[in-house]
Amino acid sequence: MGTLTPPLTPEALQPVLDRIAAEMAQEPERGQVASYIPELARQSTTPFAIALALPDGQVLRAGDADQGFSIQSISKVFTLAIALGRLGDQLWLRVGREPSGHAFNSILQLEHENGIPRNPFVNAGALVVTDAILAGHQPREVLGELLRFIRLAAADDDIHINKAVAASEQATAHRNIALAEFMAAHGNLRNPAALTIGTYVHQCAVEMSCAQLARAGLFLTGAPGGPRLVSPARIRRINALMMMCGHYDGSGEFAYRVGLPGKSGVGGGILAIAPGRAAIATWSPGLNARGNSHLGTLAMERLARETGWSVFG
Ligand code: GLN
Repeated sequence: MGTLTPPLTPEALQPVLDRIAAEMAQEPERGQVASYIPELARQSTTPFAIALALPDGQVLRAGDADQGFSIQSISKVFTLAIALGRLGDQLWLRVGREPSGHAFNSILQLEHENGIPRNPFVNAGALVVTDAILAGHQPREVLGELLRFIRLAAADDDIHINKAVAASEQATAHRNIALAEFMAAHGNLRNPAALTIGTYVHQCAVEMSCAQLARAGLFLTGAPGGPRLVSPARIRRINALMMMCGHYDGSGEFAYRVGLPGKSGVGGGILAIAPGRAAIATWSPGLNARGNSHLGTLAMERLARETGWSVFG
């Protein structure tokens, strides 16, 4: 991508963001909010936000870009970075690196594949990642490390866990408990399922604004001025996983329409990476049938088209 598209100035990018936010405000089709976590079911489909962080740390924003929302599965990118730092390639003995083609919370493949989840971004895989970083630590310590990592990446200490969202997910976590117990039956869980689930629902309940999330994603652009939290080789691999698996059974569609690695969450957020150029965050709570933000995807598609950013040339 680097050689094909020249870096764009903030002055050129800001009107693009403003236009996208204005267009999204007019869109009649806004998707459906996640209904299985009561606290998220209360959201409205009205908000839309987009923020873009440049390698020098500057953050451009449009719409509700300073409003906090539940990052949910976007947290899986940060826990994966921590787990790889801690365990390195050992992690891949317990979780795969292939797209699933199944819903984020599906249990189908786990039975066929002996309790080894397809990738670290489906729920089962993310539970393994959390279980791996829990080993020998208290949930409080792991969540503290996660918050430190995110705050460092975002250069912002005002990032917290929404306890009401965590409690709400915990109370309805039947599917995730089933996934965890099933993996325990296959010897792929080291901690009691309740401990891993308790940690996982809190990591998903981290609340950030689009401006904070875009800034926190900057380390994944590998841009020279950005924060160096993981090695360049690892950045490439995390981006590869985001591209292939970051939108679950909608990953192929996201790659086709947007052409950038991305990770979605059922809170309506998406983080996308334009390597060497920018980290982009969108938020709109209405989801499509695959559980990915409807307007967020549309906005990312328009941004990629207008900037020419794509990892495919
Ligand atoms: N906490 C959510 C869950 O486990 C995360 C899912 C998501 O964001 N896709 O169901």
